[in-house]
Amino acid sequence: MIKKKPLNIAVIGGGIGGLMATLALQQVGLHAELYEQAPQFSEVGAGIGLGPNAVRILQRLGLGKQLDAIRAPVTGFVLRHWHDGKLINDQQQNAENEYAGVWPVHRAELITILHEAISHEQLHTGKHCQSLTQDNEHVYLTFEDGTQVTADAAVGADGIHSVVRNTYHTDQPIFSNQIAYRGLVPMERLTFLGDEAHKFTMWMGPQRHFLIYPVSRGTVMNVVAFVPPEGNWRVESWAAHGEVKDLAKEFDTWAPHVQKIIQAMDDTMRWALYDRDPLDFWTQGRVTLLGDAAHAMLPHQGQGAGQSIEDALLLAYSLREADTETVAAWLQFYEALRKPRTTRVQETTRSAGKLYDLPDSEIYRRGEHFSFSNRSIWLWNYDADQAFKQAKQTIAHP
Ligand code: FAD
Repeated sequence: MIKKKPLNIAVIGGGIGGLMATLALQQVGLHAELYEQAPQFSEVGAGIGLGPNAVRILQRLGLGKQLDAIRAPVTGFVLRHWHDGKLINDQQQNAENEYAGVWPVHRAELITILHEAISHEQLHTGKHCQSLTQDNEHVYLTFEDGTQVTADAAVGADGIHSVVRNTYHTDQPIFSNQIAYRGLVPMERLTFLGDEAHKFTMWMGPQRHFLIYPVSRGTVMNVVAFVPPEGNWRVESWAAHGEVKDLAKEFDTWAPHVQKIIQAMDDTMRWALYDRDPLDFWTQGRVTLLGDAAHAMLPHQGQGAGQSIEDALLLAYSLREADTETVAAWLQFYEALRKPRTTRVQETTRSAGKLYDLPDSEIYRRGEHFSFSNRSIWLWNYDADQAFKQAKQTIAHP
């Protein structure tokens, strides 16, 4: 029997999606090299939610213990009225059951455990990919520092402003008309929250909502406050600084707990919310997309990281079957398997954001019947292994 030539895959971008893809490819026995533009895998970001769909995959890749060590056990999801702070809805979440809710983690801590699980010779930092071309046999990458890399296939995991996506598409990120303030507060400053320090709590109001949840094993509170844009400020950056006094002004008529949380913040970041329309195609020859590069979405269903984690595992399963001759066809298979689901997540996430910013007259009526877990069950129940098996029976492949 002729032995298949092992594939050499280039992954561009070392966020959660790119690191997960490299790890999953490594675990199915393929060779991947990751190129990240930042000088190091640094401590950037704040809270991120992982639904059971993502948690199962991380556990399957052997990261269960590491995840347990960084996640904050949360016991419920609480909705409150913006002005008087009255309880509208309190839904339980079993802190020990990964199939029953969202596990909040600090993005930087998740990046660290992924980074530690990958052989470091495969990770290249300070590599900003400038352009790529391909022929029938290879993909050729050019980096800003002048280096060039040749691979059998390339995966653009380079986020919402993806260079790889922009090589084949001309669309632009779409502004949602919302900005978010983010911040982290040491939990010992928030003792007035009592048990709610261990829950997702959201204050719902007209044109705004204010969300808190614990990260870093419950030692730190993550704060995200969604507001309409003021003036022309539209910066899509995870590193743009905001002013705590501006955030306080946005919420100065809100419930006392909201105001006390803002007072406890030392600093805040400001982030204009953008997403992208679903693409017609992700794959061109030997190049495909993954994570935000393929399907940037708003944060309202807590699925940005989860969808990139699903992509990563299913890309690895698809390429496990490929060789240098069939790799383009297997990338098409991966796209056909993933795109219908991520398109639905992108579309439903746009409408989910509108559920929380309600006029006063609607808050109790809508809030009382709101069930986060009922709304999320189709997202959380996705079993990537099962999806792959089914796809093998229904989607054409080599
Ligand atoms: P991203 O997380 O955007 O990662 C893309 C990676 O590609 C980045 O590391 C980037 O530096 C790299 N890159 C971009 N262009 C190039 C290039 N040309 N060449 C090489 N590398 C390139 N979500 C939250 O919910 N809460 C947060 O606090 C939060 N903080 C974030 C902080 C940062 C710095 C970033 C980049 C993203 C953050 N996100 C956060 C978004 C969240 O991580 C993603 O939406 C989700 O995890 C999907 O990840 P991704 O890997 O597809 O994309």
